[in-house]
Amino acid sequence: MNVKPQLLSLKAYSPGKPIDEVKRQYGLTKIVKLASNENPFGCSEKVGEALTSLADQFALYPDGAAYALRQKVAQHVGVQPEQLLFGSGLDEVIQIISRALLAEGTNTVMAKPTFSQYRHHAIIENAELREIPLKDGTHDLEAMLGQVDENTKIVWICNPNNPTGTYVNEADLISFLNRVPKTALVIMDEAYYEYATADDYPNTISLLDQYENLIVLRTFSKAYGLAAFRIGYAVGRADFIEKLDVTRLPFNTSSIAQVAALAALEDKEFLENCINENTKGLQQYYEFCEKHNIKYYPSQANFVFMEVGDGNEVFQRLLQKGYIVRSGAGLGLPNGIRVTVGNQEDNEQILALLEEIVTGSPKEEKCL
Ligand SMILES: *Cc1c(COP(=O)(O)O)cnc(C)c1O
Repeated sequence: MNVKPQLLSLKAYSPGKPIDEVKRQYGLTKIVKLASNENPFGCSEKVGEALTSLADQFALYPDGAAYALRQKVAQHVGVQPEQLLFGSGLDEVIQIISRALLAEGTNTVMAKPTFSQYRHHAIIENAELREIPLKDGTHDLEAMLGQVDENTKIVWICNPNNPTGTYVNEADLISFLNRVPKTALVIMDEAYYEYATADDYPNTISLLDQYENLIVLRTFSKAYGLAAFRIGYAVGRADFIEKLDVTRLPFNTSSIAQVAALAALEDKEFLENCINENTKGLQQYYEFCEKHNIKYYPSQANFVFMEVGDGNEVFQRLLQKGYIVRSGAGLGLPNGIRVTVGNQEDNEQILALLEEIVTGSPKEEKCL
């Protein structure tokens, strides 16, 4: 059977190594996975409690409109309920928007490297890709603007950017929005929004009224620790959200995910604690890099990219010790690794291993 020819240039998503496989392969008992920016502290205890109430409802379809969660998120974000579109993770929201806007003859502008799914769906929809190299690890908004024309349907701004953790500040974003044609949708992917602590990190929700071509993406997978449930959302203008909703599958978010997200929003203390721990954890990595003169990107997210040398090699050496990180090779930055900030102890241990690697002692056998 043949598929659309453009699919042949793509591969199905390959997640980090599964924990059980690594245990078997290297005969290890403890594995620490710092590869997918999952929350090292799990999720709020309120989530498990809330889920027990669902046990008698497994035979029923979920509420396709996610009514209760919609009310709660609208209040939480400070928008009207009609301004929200829920997806099975942001991955699905990215697919929904790409499907609704991109086609042959259109183009889409994004950074390089950035989150891989923007590119993936653009290719499936046969849109032209315009990838603009990062400048010092950050979106080069001026160069991106230079690539926008009347056929540009989407400009992706991953803020903070995955895999570098760098961010676009409010003044630069506003200057960009003032000049980009209104025919191009500007998507702010704020998957790590809760972790961002910079004073000049943009308040994008407050810009929605003024910029009709703006949309903001947020997820429960990262700081809320609900990656298993698959739930995220877009916030935009109600008339645009209504049009996008047509491409959404009828029951795309499960009852379980909706209830989990609702409960997670109730626990502000858990979230605050995770953010504080993350900020401290980032500092551990920065200190290490400064001590060893290793280039890194200051991060507004829960991961840090460090130029520790050949990404694949460092990945392998950490893997043998039970630490799973991401090699930069698969992320477009082959001279380093992306590490999710873990709990304090895991950070210390991985940094001790990295210290051996970067200082060359004690010598390890190479295994590649
Ligand atoms: C993790 C991530 C997503 C996808 O998150 P889900 O809601 O789990 O699908 C989207 N964008 C960025 C930048 C991410 O890092």
